[in-house]
Amino acid sequence: MNKNLYLVRCGEVALKGMNKPYFERILLERVKNALACYEGAEARWIDGLMFVRVPDTVPEDDVVDKCVKVFGVASVSTAVECEKDIDKIGAAAAEMMQKIIDNEGVQSFKVKGKRADKSFPIQSPEIGRIVGAIILKACKVLRVDVHKPDVTLTVDVRREGAYIFRDKVRGFGGLPLGTNGRGMILMSGGIDSPVAAFMMAKRGMTIEAVHFHSYPYTSQRAQQKVEDLVRVLAGYMGTIRMHVINLLPIQEQIVTNCPEDETTLLVRRFMMRIAEQIAIKNKNMMLITGEDLGQVASQTAEALVVTDSVVKMPVMRPLIAMDKVDIMDKAREIGTYDISIQPYEDCCTVFLPKHPVTKPKLERIEESESKLDVDALVAAAVASEEIVTISPR
Ligand code: ATP
Ligand code: MG
Repeated sequence: MNKNLYLVRCGEVALKGMNKPYFERILLERVKNALACYEGAEARWIDGLMFVRVPDTVPEDDVVDKCVKVFGVASVSTAVECEKDIDKIGAAAAEMMQKIIDNEGVQSFKVKGKRADKSFPIQSPEIGRIVGAIILKACKVLRVDVHKPDVTLTVDVRREGAYIFRDKVRGFGGLPLGTNGRGMILMSGGIDSPVAAFMMAKRGMTIEAVHFHSYPYTSQRAQQKVEDLVRVLAGYMGTIRMHVINLLPIQEQIVTNCPEDETTLLVRRFMMRIAEQIAIKNKNMMLITGEDLGQVASQTAEALVVTDSVVKMPVMRPLIAMDKVDIMDKAREIGTYDISIQPYEDCCTVFLPKHPVTKPKLERIEESESKLDVDALVAAAVASEEIVTISPR
């Protein structure tokens, strides 16, 4: 079986000191997992570079796409391997270049030489010059342009062989999943929370989700949308468990017993309490939300203080200081935006007050809440959870 070669580089993992072998081992496992759907795929580290080989029946773009979605990967390139013999390297590079010319009609190029194996008798700049000359001779339509070439080929002479590659496709960087604890994302169907989950997972955190709905005020389709969002995230993180809770009984109590302008905040306090209970039960150590300072009434500084005060667990808000436009860009980049903007109702919008408080006082909110049996309502909500397991497509 013929296999194509891919070179996978790690980012921050390479900067780790004593713990580097641990991070490298996990990253290797994550890449292998991502490619497990291709029979015969293999991956291993050699001198700080990951060598991935996948049967050539699998389209190269699919393999690259799978690799760049693994957190901890800085970049990936498809590569050609050959013997450490300058003529053979030249011939392989010329063959590669001819294919590029046939496919893309490029006119100028440059070759960069790299020599990690210092026992190879030719130095880096010289490797570039010799291979460049062989390519020029073989591909008459090309000229060398060292400043703005259409194509740059890199020749990397290493201990175990010589490798020629063209583009590096950038990964998201970060740290391998599972190296930084477990967090529970409060997942709405909006733009923000999927981005928040992504950002924490990118730093190595394993993610579990909780979603609140107000069925039958919110529809099945609205929940389907949230599952679709989580499925996109699962493309980066593997299977994700989502706890689904009907908040309607609590919302009805709030609407009946408490001031209208405090509805959203009171609902949010219940969400946090329930999420914390579920997080504890499932050994998550933090809550994560998509809150963003000042974005809406429930996310003013005062409102965040009121929301935060009901839980002991740390609450991560990775978007807190971002502008909405930047969050939207990030959502497009990770592939959640188009799903997020589908117009389905969220439980928060079901009983939206006309004029929500923007500078709530904690004592007043607590006073309003004293009319409710908070513990019983939270316990009932937690007991009613349904769990959905969502795998990547
Ligand atoms: P998003 O785009 O994430 O919906 P938003 O700007 O609409 O954000 P809010 O609706 O005020 O903000 O919600 C703030 C945060 O509260 C969300 O980012 C999310 O973490 C959590 N949240 C809101 N609604 C829900 C829900 N139905 N289920 C679970 N978490 C929710
Ligand atoms: Mg929302």
